[in-house]
Amino acid sequence: LNKTNCDVSNNVNSLINRWNGRAYTQRFYDILEKRKTLPVWHQKEEFLKALKDNQTLILVGETGSGKTTQIPQFVLETLELESRDKCNKYMIACTQPRRVAAMSVARRVAEEMDVNIGEQVGYSIRFEDCTSSQTVLKYLTDGMLLREAMTDPLLGRYNVIILDEAHERTLSTDVLLGLLKEVQKNRPDLKLVVMSATLEAEKFQGYFCGAPLMKVPGRLHPVEIFYTQKYEDDYVEAAIRTVIQIHTCQPPGDILVFLTGEEEIEDACRKIKKEIGNFGDSVGPALVVPLYSTLPPAMQQKIFDPAPSRLMPNGPAGRKIIVSTNIAETSLTIDGIVYVIDPGLAKRKVYNPRTRVESLIVSPISKASANQRSGRAGRTQPGKCFRLYTEKSFHNGLQSETCPEIQRSNIANTVLTLKKLGIDDLVHFDFMDPPAPETLMRALELLNYLGALDDEGNLTRLGEIISELPLEPQMGKMLVVSPELNCSNEVLSICAMLSVPNCFVRPRKAQKAADEAKARFAHIDGDHLTLLNVYHDYKQNNDDQSWCSENFVNYRVLKSADNVRQQLACIMARFNLKLCSTDLNSRNYYINIKKAMLSGYFMQVAHLERTGNYLTVKDNQVVHLHPSSRLNHKPEWVIYNEHVFTSKDFLRTVTDVRGEWLIDMAPHYFDLVNFPHCEAKRVLEKLYKKKERKADINTKKLSFRV
Ligand code: ADP
Ligand code: MG
Repeated sequence: LNKTNCDVSNNVNSLINRWNGRAYTQRFYDILEKRKTLPVWHQKEEFLKALKDNQTLILVGETGSGKTTQIPQFVLETLELESRDKCNKYMIACTQPRRVAAMSVARRVAEEMDVNIGEQVGYSIRFEDCTSSQTVLKYLTDGMLLREAMTDPLLGRYNVIILDEAHERTLSTDVLLGLLKEVQKNRPDLKLVVMSATLEAEKFQGYFCGAPLMKVPGRLHPVEIFYTQKYEDDYVEAAIRTVIQIHTCQPPGDILVFLTGEEEIEDACRKIKKEIGNFGDSVGPALVVPLYSTLPPAMQQKIFDPAPSRLMPNGPAGRKIIVSTNIAETSLTIDGIVYVIDPGLAKRKVYNPRTRVESLIVSPISKASANQRSGRAGRTQPGKCFRLYTEKSFHNGLQSETCPEIQRSNIANTVLTLKKLGIDDLVHFDFMDPPAPETLMRALELLNYLGALDDEGNLTRLGEIISELPLEPQMGKMLVVSPELNCSNEVLSICAMLSVPNCFVRPRKAQKAADEAKARFAHIDGDHLTLLNVYHDYKQNNDDQSWCSENFVNYRVLKSADNVRQQLACIMARFNLKLCSTDLNSRNYYINIKKAMLSGYFMQVAHLERTGNYLTVKDNQVVHLHPSSRLNHKPEWVIYNEHVFTSKDFLRTVTDVRGEWLIDMAPHYFDLVNFPHCEAKRVLEKLYKKKERKADINTKKLSFRV
């Protein structure tokens, strides 16, 4: 990086886009004018000089100052200029914690550069690679960069790596920070830019031994904050009420509402539309748009549509109302927001290493998050933020910062990745904030039980294959084992279906019909096999879209399951894992599938007690089958895919298994010496005795024959 005096405007004078040889479109010039007003543009020279002089740089700036969209382009220009003389290849990576952000930002930048997405600018997220051999700027999730490091430990293809949204402190970003610090020792040419929205900047600086910190001054307008007088117990209802009040009484300006998840958001959008509809023409037209991670890309783009215009020349102004998860907190910048409604909650991952349960729980956000949220109201003009909690609870009830994800997650997958990267001494790995020792122990224990790590903690051959599969280790194990049980076709389909969002649709107006449709897919042995039925029927009907809508399953979701399946099949082929099936008419067809699942999920088993309750095996927690489960005959033993905590402790995606299989397939886990006293233990004891007797009889038979 030795030429810093390049400028897009010089190249613009040429009228020809150097990336593809086409003339620039008018849209390019329009966007360019907007880009030039972004705060980071005023620090372009300073930034490029600092990057030239340092191996690592920390860049801090308000959300919306242009970090994510502009900084990678600045770097790109410099690299492009350099390579003109030397004809060398170059590439930039810019990580994002969220898939939605990686896709959306890549699209925007492609538009800014006037190129097609996937050509010079692309993105890569789990199960979707939108890049090509021409790609020089790649937006990717932090998890994907970590995966790339597994095959290319020095990340040799990149000249500059930008870790964006570092303040989010996701598990993968934290691991990348430590990893890249190591990699840089071996690659003095590798430049690293750590970007974050305010806060914790000094902490990053300390971690990178005093790397220079560059601050992009924000241009926030004042935001007036309002609190409620008393505690609101129905925050969704309170949020909707506030939206209606703003829309009917406040001057023009768009509204951003923070809620916690897909269902809640869709529900709120519907209610807001309905209530605004009741006012008729006396209020302005409203565009109500949801935003959450599983929203299809075309719908995600809608958040950038302008507010609708007035219906009559002198009528009330139109308004855009966005109802979003915390994606809109810092990851995506939406212009024109003047009002923010913040119930102070978010869905957050929590992990209890003692019970080994990781769940998403709606919990209070931190003060830092609350301030980020209110900041969204003051981007373009003075704004207002309505906090749906009391001022006292803001000051006394909220933590000042969100705890990093590594301290509230199950880290089995991370440990496996690190082992694969050759980092054996996890205790001394340079984590910015290390995981709790108990969490690390649990992860090692799980991987050892699965056979991914041997008793010395070294990666086994099995572990190596599992680490290359973009699945949680338990699921990876069941897939790797499935060819031996002659059911890899089916297990692969199940893995694919478990890797995409819920495929069942249940429209409010047709709930009964939807439930009936779902019942037709139901398999008596449980939800995994029900998913398999859906996938098989979908394929038998030739991926037909109208078949999907008639049967209340989501076409887009099934299509992506099909795509995921193909990608996993490619990885299996690489390891010579063959695709095979047991004869459908054989009584072993479903037994084999269930055994394969058990080989991965034997640590996620629940036992039905005489009281009628399920208890998780070994942890003895009372759990309930989730109402969405198709398993209604209450089998004695079940394996489950997820343990979620909402109104109760629920098991989601459950399948009936047999007690005998537990002791046959995982005797090392079901050794009764380390077992707490419970009904399950007594049943297992009997099963072990029965097995011994059988073995005795068999040997006797054998000796008899001899
Ligand atoms: P930062 O990373 O500092 O938060 P960004 O680079 O994401 O800032 O955004 C800079 C500006 O780019 C935003 O203010 C917004 O106006 C614009 N922008 C970003 N993405 C889009 C998009 N998909 N459509 C329209 N405008 C966008
Ligand atoms: Mg950004």
